[in-house]
Amino acid sequence: ISIGTELLMGELADTNAPYLAAQLPPMGIELQRITQTGDDIDMLVQALQQASQRSDLVLTTGGLGPTEDDLTRESIAKLMEETPYVDPQLLQNLKNIFRQRSSNMPETNVKQATLINSATSLNNSMGTAPGWWVERKGKIIVAMPGPPGELHRMWEREVEPKLYSYRRGMVTVTRSLKTFGLGEGVLNEKMSHLFHLSTTSLGMYAQAQGVHLRIRASAPTSNEAQILISPIEEEIRGLVGDYIW
Ligand code: ATP
Ligand code: MG
Repeated sequence: ISIGTELLMGELADTNAPYLAAQLPPMGIELQRITQTGDDIDMLVQALQQASQRSDLVLTTGGLGPTEDDLTRESIAKLMEETPYVDPQLLQNLKNIFRQRSSNMPETNVKQATLINSATSLNNSMGTAPGWWVERKGKIIVAMPGPPGELHRMWEREVEPKLYSYRRGMVTVTRSLKTFGLGEGVLNEKMSHLFHLSTTSLGMYAQAQGVHLRIRASAPTSNEAQILISPIEEEIRGLVGDYIW
């Protein structure tokens, strides 16, 4: 869930969702839906509720700042029916950050030091807002900051390593073959028998520079996935190799 009214106004292009979407297949996590919502507590609670009914894991970005319209923590607390409290250690960390900047911490920032019982904090080494890792009844909600630099760092250092222990043991690997000079229809005809195999799936994507063919396979390791992909790639190269660049 990408959170921020500016996303809904067309003022900001959501780059956080595609970033996270690309991180998930190699971890064997299948993304079911991407949602964008405004800075409105009711809309946010509804989005969180629907997402956590649908999926075991919900990732959010944005809305962790100190301002009135940063409502992610409040929304998760409301969904969980838990009361946020100020964590003394987080408050101390926050005060230290402001001391290093030689400024006083505005009172509104205190909410960045809050937690609920089901949440643990995720360190933000590039900003003031810690993330939240919320876990209850087998469902996980991870709240991360909106600024892409902060999100990327938190994902790499905090979230991805933690999620590895929840992996279901499958990874998904994609092999892209870029073609030029044949239309989608012709390509489709030549390889219609390759679309619905039990081991791999095939996708066709028309781009300005020709049609891209994507062969996908899931297996316990990426090597094993490559082994499933190889014979299909060979076959496609046999069929349309002259058109692949
Ligand atoms: P902050 O503490 O900086 O307020 P935050 O977690 O509250 O962080 P937001 O207020 O939602 O995040 O967004 C802060 C800024 O981060 C936005 O103005 C925008 O520049 C960037 N940002 C937020 N969400 C996205 C997104 N989905 N894609 C790209 N950039 C984003
Ligand atoms: Mg903000």
